[in-house]
Amino acid sequence: MSEIAEKILKVKAELPQGVTLVAVSKYHPNEDIMDAYNAGQRIFGENIVQELREKQQTLPSDIEWHYLGHLQTNKIKYIAPFISLIHAVDSLKLLIEINKQAEKNDRTIDCLLQIHIAQEETKFGFSKDEIKEFLSKELWSELNNVRICGLMCMASNTDNVEQVKLEFKQVKLLFDEFKQSYFRDKDYFHILSMGMSHDYPLAIQEGSTMVRVGTKIFGERVYN
Ligand SMILES: *Cc1c(COP(=O)(O)O)cnc(C)c1O
Repeated sequence: MSEIAEKILKVKAELPQGVTLVAVSKYHPNEDIMDAYNAGQRIFGENIVQELREKQQTLPSDIEWHYLGHLQTNKIKYIAPFISLIHAVDSLKLLIEINKQAEKNDRTIDCLLQIHIAQEETKFGFSKDEIKEFLSKELWSELNNVRICGLMCMASNTDNVEQVKLEFKQVKLLFDEFKQSYFRDKDYFHILSMGMSHDYPLAIQEGSTMVRVGTKIFGERVYN
């Protein structure tokens, strides 16, 4: 068995029931993805449109591709025909564009709203107030070709466990609040995407239902 297969089986075996694993394969070659695929993994996450398109065209068609990164509106059209879940919607404008491209492809695209909770300035996403304002206006509910399936966040990149825990807790509270207020009868609103290689066990403890794990499965990424 390949090293990647062993690692992914180990990660999976330790996940509680109800938590979905997204294997984050960005910057890793097709062979590595196939190792994970042959170990049974079907959900992969990427964050560069061009790279994702190339992989989608050459790899097995039963892979569910997730888009994790900041998405530019002019690039949606390239992934709209096949994308399973877009994790990081952070504006109404983006959601409207995704809806438009989904309609053109005669499909519905599942999306998560990204909430900015980390202390770092550079991360994208709605602030707590912005996301509340966004949902309260209900403009989103008129978009028939997208579904808001939950929330996504990235915690602060810090060794301060208490800080990270607090951030996950806050997002879980918002998730529950939104579920109650806007999505009570919507079964599809059930995804809380939080946790990466270094913090996913903590995220799960705080209520994550979807973890995005790259390095721990595929090793360090080589950026070139
Ligand atoms: C790259 C990436 C991950 C995976 O990070 P690892 O530390 O390699 O597990 C998770 N989420 C997002 C949004 C990413 O861009």
